[in-house]
Amino acid sequence: MKGICILGATGSIGVSTLDVVARHADLYKVIALTANNNIDVLYEQCLIHHPEVVVVVDESKAQAFKEKLKNSTVSDIKVLSGVKALEQVATLDNVDSVMAAIVGAAGLLPSLAAAKAGKIVLLANKEALVMSGTIFMQAIAESGAQLLPIDSEHNAIFQCMPAGYKTGMQAKEARRILLTASGGPFREMPVDQLVNVTPDQAVAHPNWDMGRKISVDSATMMNKGLEMIEACILFDMNPDQIQVVIHPQSVIHSMVDYVDGTVLAQMGNPDMRIPIAHSMAWPERFDSGVEPLNIFDVGRMDFHEPNLERFPCLRLAYEAINAGGIMPTVLNAANEIAVEAFLDERVRFTDIPVIIECSMKKFEVKVADTLEIILDIDQQARIAAKQIIEELNR
Ligand code: NAD
Ligand code: MG
Repeated sequence: MKGICILGATGSIGVSTLDVVARHADLYKVIALTANNNIDVLYEQCLIHHPEVVVVVDESKAQAFKEKLKNSTVSDIKVLSGVKALEQVATLDNVDSVMAAIVGAAGLLPSLAAAKAGKIVLLANKEALVMSGTIFMQAIAESGAQLLPIDSEHNAIFQCMPAGYKTGMQAKEARRILLTASGGPFREMPVDQLVNVTPDQAVAHPNWDMGRKISVDSATMMNKGLEMIEACILFDMNPDQIQVVIHPQSVIHSMVDYVDGTVLAQMGNPDMRIPIAHSMAWPERFDSGVEPLNIFDVGRMDFHEPNLERFPCLRLAYEAINAGGIMPTVLNAANEIAVEAFLDERVRFTDIPVIIECSMKKFEVKVADTLEIILDIDQQARIAAKQIIEELNR
């Protein structure tokens, strides 16, 4: 029996994780759940899974949640609040596995705490890894933690790696990764119409049902840019060994090209419960609740090279990782601010890459080898991006 802590339990990945947990109550016990402020969803989850402790980051929502629990059947659940409590529950002694599913930089400190505490880290929170690659992997290596990728592409790549492979290692016989992408909702929209895209159009992904931030990232293809950086860090590869492939059917979730010419692919329906169940059962396998893939319904699979003019965010991600040091941290922070402004209808869809590129130009490359530097650059890049948004709106 393993104890699990789910950081970001009320989000898209959190909900899918609890769906898998419910199928394997003999193997997993929910110790801790966390939410930013969605106490209604958290309450329903508590009634079903009865964790020992929950974190509601927002102080006043945490108070309201305590009231809500008082007359319930789960009134013994401990309620904590504040960001420090996230680290506290991620490192509890009876927690074996931590699902890191908070969106954005807010997930860095608790995910890193789980890594330092030697937990089995199930990593969905790609932004944490992109902003702190070197120190995150160092923490994993030093504590002996197990890092298992939840992002469907990286989970696919991990599954295609040689037997005994551990994340962070270099698989010498693997010469290339083919990182697949659906191309998002605007894959074929005329480029001159992208300027008028609305938040509702951008979050309506053709194949995957996800949170709002990652849905916008998929529409700009920054998601693939972040994933390319994520792949360089997880699999110790150079950016030029990672080829992004547009594959609109989203049936192949990525491929590994070996020196002998073998290409291994992982396939399945586009449902995050597959990578979640894979990592929760690893090195065994168990039921995820996902329907078997009907290959006849799939019928055909297409592959195209991405157009970097249509998707400048992907180009910026290559520029950031090639520059190295703090640049991926700057890229990530500026992107978070730009996406938030787009969702609030303060900037246009096509402003997103402009904001990121202008932010990156404001920074000189330097090493990012301490947490202090990373957190400081993250803050500075957010301020720079906000200034650029103000200038755009003037
Ligand atoms: P989501 O928006 O649906 O959920 C985010 C979760 O994080 C919620 O539980 C929310 O309460 C919590 N949260 C948000 N801001 C917070 C803050 N400041 N402090 C503490 N908690 C906070 O997001 P999602 O789609 O589930 O994505 C979560 C992560 O997983 C992201 O990093 C995303 O890139 C990654 N991911 C998601 C998918 C997917 O299918 N949704 C696929 C691959 C990777
Ligand atoms: Mg992905």
